[in-house]
Amino acid sequence: MAIGIAKRAKAIKPSPTLAMAAKAKAMKAQGIDVVDFGVGEPDFDTPENVKQAGIKAIQTGFTKYTPAGGTDELKDAVIEKFKRDNGLAYEKSQVLISCGAKHSLYNIAEAIFDAGDEVIIPSPYWVSYPDQVLLNDATPVIVETTEQEGFRISAAKLEKAVTAKTKAIVLNSPSNPTGLAYDRKTLEEIAAVAVKHKIYVISDEIYEKLVYDGFKHYSIASLGPEIKDLTIVVNGVSKSHAMTGWRIGYAAGPKDVITAMANIQSQSTSNPTSISQKASVEALRGPQDFLAGMNAEFDKRRTYMVERLNRMPGVSCIKPVGAFYAFPNVSKLYGKTAAGRTIRNSSDMAAYLLEEAKVALVSGDSFGADAYIRLSYATSLENITKGLDRIEAAVKNLK
Ligand code: PMP
Ligand code: GLU
Repeated sequence: MAIGIAKRAKAIKPSPTLAMAAKAKAMKAQGIDVVDFGVGEPDFDTPENVKQAGIKAIQTGFTKYTPAGGTDELKDAVIEKFKRDNGLAYEKSQVLISCGAKHSLYNIAEAIFDAGDEVIIPSPYWVSYPDQVLLNDATPVIVETTEQEGFRISAAKLEKAVTAKTKAIVLNSPSNPTGLAYDRKTLEEIAAVAVKHKIYVISDEIYEKLVYDGFKHYSIASLGPEIKDLTIVVNGVSKSHAMTGWRIGYAAGPKDVITAMANIQSQSTSNPTSISQKASVEALRGPQDFLAGMNAEFDKRRTYMVERLNRMPGVSCIKPVGAFYAFPNVSKLYGKTAAGRTIRNSSDMAAYLLEEAKVALVSGDSFGADAYIRLSYATSLENITKGLDRIEAAVKNLK
C-alpha cells in the first residue's frame, strides 16, 4: 500500500473559528487595522489569584507528570463544582480532566463512536462537533433548528431523527454560535426521548456561567437518575475564568465511558499540564467575584451590539441569553452587490466585511447556518463601536 493520508483525516477541515482568529491576528501583525469579532475567547485577563496559583505551582516544583486523568485535588474541586452549581453528585471515577473542553469532547467521541454510528447534531452547531464525529468514523446527522424555534431542537424533531443506529445527541447550552439556551422544560422532553431510545447525551456546558437577563442554566444530567446515566457533561475553565490558553476542561458521566476516555488519554496526551491543573483548582475553589464583573461588561456589549445590528437595513438579530456571540441573519442582503462583488452567501459576506470593512467575523456556514454570520463581543466597547460603524457603512453600500 502506498503512503498517504488516512480517509478520516481527509474528511475534515481545520477549525474555521481558529482559522479566522489566526487570519485576523496575521492581518494585525501586518499593521492592518482589523476589528476582530472572530475571536471566541474572553478578552479579560485570567484572574490574579488564579495566575498566582500557577506561579506557585512552578515555584514549588509541581512541574512533573500527574495521573493521566488529572489530579485528585482538581477532580475533587470539579466534583464540588457539580454539586454546588448543578446539584449533581459524581465520584472521582466518573470525572476526567483533559486539555480543554475540546479535548474532553474528542475523548468522548473516541470512547463511544464506532463506524456506522449516527450522532445527532442540531444546527447551528459549534464547528468541531461534526468533524470530531467524522474523525471517529461515525456519521453526523445534522438536524436543522430555526430562529423561530429559538434554535432549540424539540423532542418531536429529535424523535424523528432517531434511528436504530443513533448513538448520541450533542447539546450545547448556552450555544456557540447562537447565544441561545435550553429551558428546563425542553431539556426534560429531550431527556425523555434519550431515555426511551437509550442514546447518550453529550452536554457541552462550557458557557454555563456566561448568562444574562437572569437566565437559569440547568444541566440535563440533573433532571433524573436515568438521564444522568446517559449523559456526559463537558465543561471547563476556558470561558468562565478567561483561561483559554491554560487548556483545562473536564467531563463527568457514566463510569465505563469515563474509564474508556481516561485510557485513551493515558495513551495519547497523558496528563493535562500540572501547572494549569493547580491554577484550575484555584479557579474553581477561590473567590468567584471576577465573573460578575466580566458578565456585567459582556451584558452591556451584548445589548449595544444587538440593538445596532437590528437597526441595520437587511439585518435582524435575535437577542442572546448566554455566551458572547451575536448571530444576526443577513440573508436579506444576499444577491446584493458592492465594490464589484456580489454577496451570495455567508462566506461571501464574511470575506466582503474582512476585505472591504476590515472586520473579522465567522460565516454562518461554518456552523451549518448559511443565513447568518457570527460576531463575538469579547472585545472592548470601543472596538465594538468601531467595528459596527464599519459594518453599517459596508451594509449600506450593498445595492
Ligand atoms: N465547546 C464550545 C461550544 C466552545 O465554544 C469551545 C471554545 N472553543 C469549546 C467547547 C472548547 O473550549 P476549550 O478552550 O476548553 O477547549
Ligand atoms: N470557542 C471559540 C470559537 O468558537 C474558540 C475557537 C475554537 O476552539 O474553535 O471561536
